[in-house]
Amino acid sequence: ASDGQKFSLSVDQQPVSVTKFDLLPNPVLSWFTDQDTAGYRIFALPKPLMPGDSATLEIKTSLTNPGFVNNGYRREILYNGTFTSAGIPSIGYDPNGELESDEDRKKYGLVEKPDDLPPHRDPYGEKTMLFNDDADLINFECIVSTVPDQIAVAPGYLQREWTENGRRYFHYKQDSKIDYFFNVVSGRYSVLRDKWTSPKGEDVNIEIFYHQEHHYNLDRFVAALKDGLSYFHQNFGPYQFRQVRILEFPRYAAFAQSFPNTIPYSEDFGWYADFSDPNDYDYGYYVTAHELAHQWWGHQVVPNFTRGSNLVSESLAEYSALMIAKQKYGPDNVQQFLKYDLDGYLRGRASESKKENVFINCNRSYQWYQKGSIILYGLQDYIGEERLNSAIKAFRDSFGMKENPPFAGSYDLHDFIQTVVPDSLQYYMEDSWHKLALYENRVVTAKAKSIGNEEYEVTLTVKANKRYADEKGAETDATNMDDYIDIGVFAPDKVEANGKKLTVPLYLKKHKLTAGDHTITIKVNKKPEKAGIDPYNKLIDRVPEDNRKEVEF
Ligand SMILES: [Zn+2]
Repeated sequence: ASDGQKFSLSVDQQPVSVTKFDLLPNPVLSWFTDQDTAGYRIFALPKPLMPGDSATLEIKTSLTNPGFVNNGYRREILYNGTFTSAGIPSIGYDPNGELESDEDRKKYGLVEKPDDLPPHRDPYGEKTMLFNDDADLINFECIVSTVPDQIAVAPGYLQREWTENGRRYFHYKQDSKIDYFFNVVSGRYSVLRDKWTSPKGEDVNIEIFYHQEHHYNLDRFVAALKDGLSYFHQNFGPYQFRQVRILEFPRYAAFAQSFPNTIPYSEDFGWYADFSDPNDYDYGYYVTAHELAHQWWGHQVVPNFTRGSNLVSESLAEYSALMIAKQKYGPDNVQQFLKYDLDGYLRGRASESKKENVFINCNRSYQWYQKGSIILYGLQDYIGEERLNSAIKAFRDSFGMKENPPFAGSYDLHDFIQTVVPDSLQYYMEDSWHKLALYENRVVTAKAKSIGNEEYEVTLTVKANKRYADEKGAETDATNMDDYIDIGVFAPDKVEANGKKLTVPLYLKKHKLTAGDHTITIKVNKKPEKAGIDPYNKLIDRVPEDNRKEVEF
């Protein structure tokens, strides 16, 4: 093949000629010959399959790298660190293979292709899973062999391991149904073993498969898994497996993916990062919590194929990871996570080339990751973490491990959450899920004076404003803004023995603010250093940097 990679495939022992096989970006079978430009085969069965019937499809594929490629590289099969989806073709028609760009489609006389999924409650969309159209939940069993000094891993519990003809074999079997989503990993791994025990006394085995020299942050990964298992179990419902495994793969790719009880993630995600400064953003811990959360959001609750449904998977995973961070660092010390998300969202919408969807219809990663993080974090801050979690748990109880459609859409999660939001905060639900709201809050002046008895009076002038953007970015001021916004006064940071800086709020309360200037006077019982409006960046604010100011005496 022209890219240096050879694939061959056979169906029912008959070879199918293949000259090109693309695994990326979509792990679906798409091969092309001169005659067959669609990479598509239609098999006519002797008689139609009826519901409940079964048939066997036998597939043989091989993937080899016979030489060096001229451009780029192939990362699936490696000497150490293979990570492959095993070359299994996708069944059915794959619309992802169609031309997408407006220009290309025009050139070939095709109508524009909308990049939105089917609308909410669309009957086809509700009975289809977001990540694949091939199957609903499946039974999974896999025998995989590798070279003798490597360990090969696939989802499921290890049944048996043996050596035969110079190959090392592993037999994995999953005893509960999982979605049709798996990969095979093989490497010269060292393994760290630990376990987490549920409050009912059920053990979950923890295994970290790592490159021996990359042992620096294993304790962070284990801590994130244990913290996550405890929190998610308690707040969202039980973990569905008896094991969870993290596997390192080489940095030819930089992502993490959460397969059932099996989470491969790239060397890049903190395996050898230096987290010795406790004030650095600990993305190793955060990413691990996020990927673990996908065992609930993505695997227990599978999103359907309708507009915005990926927030069920990604926004809930982000929210779950943020709750773990909040638990670990305290609610006054997650601002760096929120600010990171806010910057990401603002950058994402600034470079939007088509239109920005509202959250309930989200169709871009900056919406389901970064915006989702902020608005769900903001909501638990308004209504209480337990209250929001109770709605999320009820949603999980309703859709978790569901074998039959309808599967969950963004609107389902929305409706569960809606029931726990009081009337006074319905404006926030409306703003965050159904509109594009942007605050322009800032501190104008912050002054303080001593009033004796070690007390200080702080006078803050703040400007509050909220605007609504439409899909194309045109903006108008919100009329009748009267919103709950944090006002805070802070002492100098407290520095722990290890150097970790902790925010020390002297005053932090929500004020109901209309648009315009407000003067607020606050008494505090320690010398203040800073003050601000929405100082933790819980709201989507166009300029988050001007929300805090040094206090003048
Ligand atoms: Zn994710």
